[in-house]
Amino acid sequence: DGVRLERVREHVWEIPRDGEMGVPARVFASEQLLEQIADDKTLQQLRNATHLPGIVGRAICMPDGHQGYGFPVGGVGAMDAETGCISPGAIGYDINCGVRMMRTNLTYDDVVGREAELVDALFANVPSGLGGGGIVEGDRDTIEGVLARGIDWALEHGYAVEDDLAHCEDEGMRPDADPDAVSQKAKDRGKNQIGSLGSGNHFLEVQRVTDIYRPEVAAEFGLEPDQIVVLIHCGSRGLGHQVCSDYLRRIEQEHGDLLERLPDKELAAAPAGSELAEEYYGAMCAAINFAWVNRQLIMHRTRQVFERVFDRDWQAMEMELLYDVAHNIGKKEVHEVDVDADGRPASSGEAVAREQRELYVHRKGATRAFPAGRAEVPAAYRDVGQPIIIPGSMGAGSYVLRGGERSLSRSFGSTAHGAGRTMSRTQAKNEFWGETVQNELRDQEKIYVKAQSGATVAEEAPGVYKDVDEVVRVSDDLGIGDKVARTYPVCNIKG
Ligand code: 5GP
Ligand code: MN
Ligand code: MN
Repeated sequence: DGVRLERVREHVWEIPRDGEMGVPARVFASEQLLEQIADDKTLQQLRNATHLPGIVGRAICMPDGHQGYGFPVGGVGAMDAETGCISPGAIGYDINCGVRMMRTNLTYDDVVGREAELVDALFANVPSGLGGGGIVEGDRDTIEGVLARGIDWALEHGYAVEDDLAHCEDEGMRPDADPDAVSQKAKDRGKNQIGSLGSGNHFLEVQRVTDIYRPEVAAEFGLEPDQIVVLIHCGSRGLGHQVCSDYLRRIEQEHGDLLERLPDKELAAAPAGSELAEEYYGAMCAAINFAWVNRQLIMHRTRQVFERVFDRDWQAMEMELLYDVAHNIGKKEVHEVDVDADGRPASSGEAVAREQRELYVHRKGATRAFPAGRAEVPAAYRDVGQPIIIPGSMGAGSYVLRGGERSLSRSFGSTAHGAGRTMSRTQAKNEFWGETVQNELRDQEKIYVKAQSGATVAEEAPGVYKDVDEVVRVSDDLGIGDKVARTYPVCNIKG
């Protein structure tokens, strides 16, 4: 649809600044990946995002990017926290959707022959699907505690150990959370979903490590070939979704003037410093905490399931959290940006210096990828860079990376979050039949999948996703996220 791309260098493409664009935009992709977004709205959406007030540097699309609600999935946009804005659509409906990986000291040999038993036990004990409850029943105090304190709440109630906090982004708690800014409706939607996977794209997968690319870093992450690990992917369920829709509506109403100037209504944004920007930030941080507790409770339940199936304590199986990363999130972070003579963020041309500025970094379907040395990286990984977890599909590899040296200068410390879809859910259901996919995975790959419905398996069939190897190759090549290890599915449960 006429978005012009210029090749900057291998794997880097630019939409040059023109018209109302505040900054240029960049796409990180190989030619093969670029072809897959040629016919959808990804590039137009990326271009539109550069109109957001106070956007600095560039709007960026990661190699797994595809079209989303207003702002592309795989998109990163950094807006000045003083003169810019915050945009719920650039964070996503499933606030703090993310992944965590838990290590074990089991090897693939310990699990072979017992996959069916393990997948059944996980499916029976980890709540999933659209309806149904969670792992804890949320009364008023529970929900307030979860929203305000995140995993600290889980620690107090026996669902976490100190070590879990030390291996989670932000120690599993955003101190800026404001539970009062979360509507009663959102709390009601979330209260019976604390500790539940949800449906569709969310999953719990037992995997085995198949490849190691950087042995010294893998050793720091505690990963070795043939080891069994568990990957958990879910977010903030109905609560986060409700927070996003509540604030989108309020922002559209209260900041209609700003909306008028944007090329797409779905980019609705609250100006930095406005009451609504603060309120949304507080509510979003509370939803972030909710999602962390959600993944924590599921991990806790998984430990219990392994205890029963393998008849040993989880501590004896060394079932430790490797890391937990958010991939739908907005965060105040300090980055170096171009400034003009007045010390304000500058568009290209007016820049006279580089300065540290506080930004609202929006990552929607993108993962933080901080390199060694950044203060936000937990002490355990500060010398090597933060772990990054990139799921592939139920029939392909997934990856562990570490924050690359170039991520701060190239992508505001971010990289990809998955393989990225190539096909809509509707199209997927026409192309694939759930039961057939399941049988083939089991018979040909020894991958055991159990889901609430066959439709979910069809919608999430390996063929609906891009080539994760290619996505990760681009990330590694650009130095924004470096390959550390690759895993392969053993059992998978889905909503
Ligand atoms: P999203 O958060 O955008 O829904 O998904 C993140 C990524 O997870 C997708 O881009 C896809 O690559 C990956 N993914 C989806 N389903 C599965 C699964 O069952 N197993 C694994 N390992 N990855 C998956
Ligand atoms: Mn999600
Ligand atoms: Mn997700």
